[in-house]
Amino acid sequence: MILVLLGPPGVGKGTQASRISVHYDIPSVSTGAMFRDAVARGTELGRTIQRYRIDKGEYVPDEVVVTAVKDRIAEQDCKVGFLLDGFPRTTPQAEALNRLLSEQSRRLNGVLNFAAPINEIVQRFSGRRVCPNDGSTYHIEHQPPLQSGLCDLCKTPLITRPDDDAEVVKRRLEVYAEKTAPLVAYYEKAGLLRTIDATKEPETVFGQVIAVLEGWQWHI
Ligand code: AMP
Repeated sequence: MILVLLGPPGVGKGTQASRISVHYDIPSVSTGAMFRDAVARGTELGRTIQRYRIDKGEYVPDEVVVTAVKDRIAEQDCKVGFLLDGFPRTTPQAEALNRLLSEQSRRLNGVLNFAAPINEIVQRFSGRRVCPNDGSTYHIEHQPPLQSGLCDLCKTPLITRPDDDAEVVKRRLEVYAEKTAPLVAYYEKAGLLRTIDATKEPETVFGQVIAVLEGWQWHI
Protein backbone atom coordinates (compact mmCIF):
# COMPACT_ATOMS: atom_id res chain seq x y z
CA MET A 1 0.00 0.00 0.00
CA ILE A 2 1.38 3.41 -1.01
CA LEU A 3 -0.47 6.35 0.50
CA VAL A 4 -0.14 10.12 0.60
CA LEU A 5 -1.42 12.14 3.55
CA LEU A 6 -2.43 15.62 2.48
CA GLY A 7 -3.63 18.55 4.58
CA PRO A 8 -2.49 21.83 6.09
CA PRO A 9 0.23 21.96 8.75
CA GLY A 10 -1.12 21.26 12.22
CA VAL A 11 -4.17 19.30 11.04
CA GLY A 12 -2.99 16.08 12.72
CA LYS A 13 -1.35 14.25 9.80
CA GLY A 14 1.67 13.24 11.88
CA THR A 15 -0.47 11.63 14.58
CA GLN A 16 -2.54 9.75 12.01
CA ALA A 17 0.60 8.76 10.09
CA SER A 18 2.01 7.05 13.20
CA ARG A 19 -1.23 5.17 13.76
CA ILE A 20 -1.57 4.03 10.14
CA SER A 21 2.07 2.98 10.16
CA VAL A 22 1.56 0.77 13.23
CA HIS A 23 -1.81 -0.61 12.07
CA TYR A 24 -0.60 -1.66 8.61
CA ASP A 25 3.04 -2.21 9.56
CA ILE A 26 4.40 0.08 6.86
CA PRO A 27 6.96 2.88 7.33
CA SER A 28 5.81 6.46 7.59
CA VAL A 29 8.03 8.74 5.53
CA SER A 30 7.83 12.34 6.77
CA THR A 31 9.95 14.78 4.79
CA GLY A 32 9.71 17.39 7.59
CA ALA A 33 10.98 14.86 10.17
CA MET A 34 13.72 13.72 7.75
CA PHE A 35 14.88 17.32 7.31
CA ARG A 36 14.84 18.15 11.03
CA ASP A 37 16.76 14.96 11.78
CA ALA A 38 19.32 15.65 9.01
CA VAL A 39 19.90 19.19 10.34
CA ALA A 40 20.26 17.92 13.92
CA ARG A 41 22.76 15.25 12.84
CA GLY A 42 24.67 17.62 10.55
CA THR A 43 24.54 15.29 7.52
CA GLU A 44 25.11 16.46 3.94
CA LEU A 45 21.32 16.70 3.45
CA GLY A 46 21.14 18.67 6.72
CA ARG A 47 23.72 21.17 5.49
CA THR A 48 21.77 21.60 2.24
CA ILE A 49 18.50 22.10 4.15
CA GLN A 50 20.08 24.78 6.32
CA ARG A 51 20.39 26.97 3.24
CA TYR A 52 16.57 27.27 3.19
CA ARG A 53 14.41 28.89 5.86
CA ILE A 54 12.40 25.88 6.99
CA ASP A 55 12.26 27.40 10.49
CA LYS A 56 10.35 30.30 8.86
CA GLY A 57 7.92 28.07 6.97
CA GLU A 58 9.52 28.37 3.51
CA TYR A 59 9.58 25.29 1.30
CA VAL A 60 12.73 23.42 0.37
CA PRO A 61 13.23 23.38 -3.45
CA ASP A 62 11.51 20.51 -5.27
CA GLU A 63 14.76 18.92 -6.56
CA VAL A 64 16.16 18.62 -3.03
CA VAL A 65 12.95 17.11 -1.63
CA VAL A 66 12.47 14.71 -4.53
CA THR A 67 16.04 13.40 -4.26
CA ALA A 68 15.62 12.84 -0.51
CA VAL A 69 12.33 10.97 -1.04
CA LYS A 70 13.77 8.94 -3.93
CA ASP A 71 16.61 7.70 -1.70
CA ARG A 72 14.32 7.01 1.24
CA ILE A 73 11.69 4.99 -0.65
CA ALA A 74 14.40 2.91 -2.32
CA GLU A 75 15.31 1.51 1.12
CA GLN A 76 14.44 -2.07 1.96
CA ASP A 77 11.71 -1.30 4.53
CA CYS A 78 9.67 0.58 1.89
CA LYS A 79 9.40 -2.51 -0.35
CA VAL A 80 6.18 -3.58 1.44
CA GLY A 81 4.65 -0.14 0.95
CA PHE A 82 4.83 3.19 2.79
CA LEU A 83 2.95 6.33 3.53
CA LEU A 84 4.10 9.83 2.76
CA ASP A 85 3.45 12.58 5.29
CA GLY A 86 4.30 16.08 4.05
CA PHE A 87 5.19 15.02 0.51
CA PRO A 88 4.25 15.90 -2.19
CA ARG A 89 3.68 19.57 -1.38
CA THR A 90 3.74 21.04 -4.90
CA THR A 91 2.44 19.90 -8.28
CA PRO A 92 5.99 19.27 -9.62
CA GLN A 93 6.62 17.05 -6.56
CA ALA A 94 3.40 15.12 -7.25
CA GLU A 95 4.50 14.60 -10.85
CA ALA A 96 7.96 13.51 -9.70
CA LEU A 97 6.35 11.00 -7.32
CA ASN A 98 4.39 9.47 -10.21
CA ARG A 99 7.64 9.14 -12.15
CA LEU A 100 9.56 7.63 -9.23
CA LEU A 101 6.84 5.06 -8.65
CA SER A 102 6.41 4.11 -12.28
CA GLU A 103 10.20 3.60 -12.56
CA GLN A 104 9.73 0.95 -9.86
CA SER A 105 6.55 -0.42 -11.58
CA ARG A 106 4.52 0.77 -8.63
CA ARG A 107 1.75 3.30 -8.26
CA LEU A 108 0.08 5.46 -5.67
CA ASN A 109 -2.97 3.74 -4.18
CA GLY A 110 -4.70 6.62 -2.47
CA VAL A 111 -4.55 10.09 -0.97
CA LEU A 112 -6.12 10.99 2.37
CA ASN A 113 -6.97 14.68 2.58
CA PHE A 114 -7.23 15.84 6.21
CA ALA A 115 -9.48 18.89 6.40
CA ALA A 116 -10.18 21.36 9.22
CA PRO A 117 -11.09 25.08 9.33
CA ILE A 118 -8.13 27.48 9.51
CA ASN A 119 -9.14 29.04 12.87
CA GLU A 120 -9.17 25.61 14.49
CA ILE A 121 -5.73 24.84 13.08
CA VAL A 122 -4.28 28.09 14.42
CA GLN A 123 -5.71 27.31 17.87
CA ARG A 124 -4.26 23.79 17.78
CA PHE A 125 -0.78 25.02 17.00
CA SER A 126 -0.56 26.98 20.21
CA GLY A 127 -0.85 23.76 22.24
CA ARG A 128 1.30 21.54 20.07
CA ARG A 129 4.41 19.95 21.61
CA VAL A 130 6.89 17.53 20.05
CA CYS A 131 9.51 15.13 21.30
CA PRO A 132 12.90 16.27 19.94
CA ASN A 133 14.18 12.71 20.25
CA ASP A 134 11.61 10.55 18.42
CA GLY A 135 9.38 13.16 16.75
CA SER A 136 6.11 12.06 18.40
CA THR A 137 3.57 14.86 18.73
CA TYR A 138 1.24 15.86 21.55
CA HIS A 139 -1.25 18.58 22.34
CA ILE A 140 -1.50 20.02 25.83
CA GLU A 141 -5.34 19.82 25.74
CA HIS A 142 -6.40 17.37 23.05
CA GLN A 143 -3.64 14.80 23.32
CA PRO A 144 -1.63 15.34 26.50
CA PRO A 145 1.33 13.11 27.35
CA LEU A 146 0.85 10.69 30.27
CA GLN A 147 3.35 12.69 32.35
CA SER A 148 3.14 16.44 31.86
CA GLY A 149 5.92 17.75 29.58
CA LEU A 150 7.51 14.34 28.90
CA CYS A 151 7.37 12.05 25.86
CA ASP A 152 5.32 8.88 26.56
CA LEU A 153 7.76 6.71 24.63
CA CYS A 154 11.22 7.93 25.70
CA LYS A 155 10.52 10.42 28.55
CA THR A 156 12.48 13.19 26.77
CA PRO A 157 11.23 16.69 27.73
CA LEU A 158 8.80 17.94 25.05
CA ILE A 159 9.45 21.18 23.17
CA THR A 160 7.52 23.66 21.00
CA ARG A 161 8.79 23.49 17.43
CA PRO A 162 10.42 26.81 16.41
CA ASP A 163 8.23 26.90 13.29
CA ASP A 164 5.07 26.67 15.47
CA ASP A 165 5.58 30.31 16.46
CA ALA A 166 2.38 32.32 15.60
CA GLU A 167 3.95 34.44 12.82
CA VAL A 168 5.61 31.42 11.24
CA VAL A 169 2.35 29.45 11.44
CA LYS A 170 0.63 32.25 9.51
CA ARG A 171 3.33 32.03 6.84
CA ARG A 172 3.14 28.21 6.70
CA LEU A 173 -0.62 28.36 6.14
CA GLU A 174 -0.16 30.95 3.36
CA VAL A 175 2.47 28.81 1.65
CA TYR A 176 0.18 25.78 2.00
CA ALA A 177 -2.76 27.63 0.41
CA GLU A 178 -0.62 28.85 -2.47
CA LYS A 179 1.53 25.81 -3.25
CA THR A 180 -0.03 22.69 -1.73
CA ALA A 181 -3.81 23.22 -1.71
CA PRO A 182 -3.94 22.79 -5.55
CA LEU A 183 -2.97 19.14 -4.98
CA VAL A 184 -6.47 18.47 -3.60
CA ALA A 185 -7.94 19.09 -7.06
CA TYR A 186 -4.98 17.32 -8.71
CA TYR A 187 -5.62 14.07 -6.81
CA GLU A 188 -9.38 14.41 -6.99
CA LYS A 189 -9.09 14.50 -10.76
CA ALA A 190 -6.93 11.37 -10.60
CA GLY A 191 -9.75 9.65 -8.63
CA LEU A 192 -7.41 8.98 -5.69
CA LEU A 193 -8.64 11.45 -3.07
CA ARG A 194 -10.76 10.83 0.03
CA THR A 195 -11.40 13.68 2.45
CA ILE A 196 -11.30 13.03 6.20
CA ASP A 197 -12.95 15.34 8.75
CA ALA A 198 -9.94 16.16 10.92
CA THR A 199 -11.82 18.33 13.42
CA LYS A 200 -12.62 15.34 15.66
CA GLU A 201 -10.51 13.65 18.37
CA PRO A 202 -7.55 11.61 17.02
CA GLU A 203 -9.28 8.30 17.81
CA THR A 204 -12.41 9.28 15.85
CA VAL A 205 -10.32 10.59 12.94
CA PHE A 206 -8.43 7.29 12.89
CA GLY A 207 -11.77 5.44 12.74
CA GLN A 208 -12.61 7.38 9.57
CA VAL A 209 -9.16 6.63 8.14
CA ILE A 210 -9.54 2.90 8.71
CA ALA A 211 -13.05 2.91 7.21
CA VAL A 212 -11.70 4.59 4.06
CA LEU A 213 -8.65 2.33 3.81
CA GLU A 214 -10.65 -0.86 4.33
CA GLY A 215 -13.08 0.29 1.65
CA TRP A 216 -10.10 0.80 -0.65
CA GLN A 217 -8.55 -2.63 -0.18
CA TRP A 218 -9.89 -3.89 -3.49
CA HIS A 219 -7.76 -1.51 -5.51
CA ILE A 220 -4.70 -1.44 -3.23
P1 AMP B 1 6.43 19.42 8.28
O1 AMP B 1 7.03 18.72 9.47
O2 AMP B 1 5.82 18.47 7.31
O3 AMP B 1 5.49 20.53 8.68
O4 AMP B 1 7.66 20.12 7.50
C1 AMP B 1 8.46 21.10 8.13
C2 AMP B 1 9.08 22.01 7.08
O5 AMP B 1 9.98 21.25 6.23
C3 AMP B 1 8.08 22.64 6.13
O6 AMP B 1 7.49 23.82 6.65
C4 AMP B 1 8.99 22.95 4.93
O7 AMP B 1 9.79 24.07 5.21
C5 AMP B 1 9.91 21.73 4.89
N1 AMP B 1 9.33 20.66 4.04
C6 AMP B 1 8.88 19.44 4.47
N2 AMP B 1 8.40 18.72 3.44
C7 AMP B 1 8.55 19.51 2.34
C8 AMP B 1 8.21 19.34 0.97
N3 AMP B 1 7.60 18.20 0.52
N4 AMP B 1 8.49 20.35 0.11
C9 AMP B 1 9.10 21.49 0.53
N5 AMP B 1 9.43 21.72 1.82
C10 AMP B 1 9.15 20.74 2.72
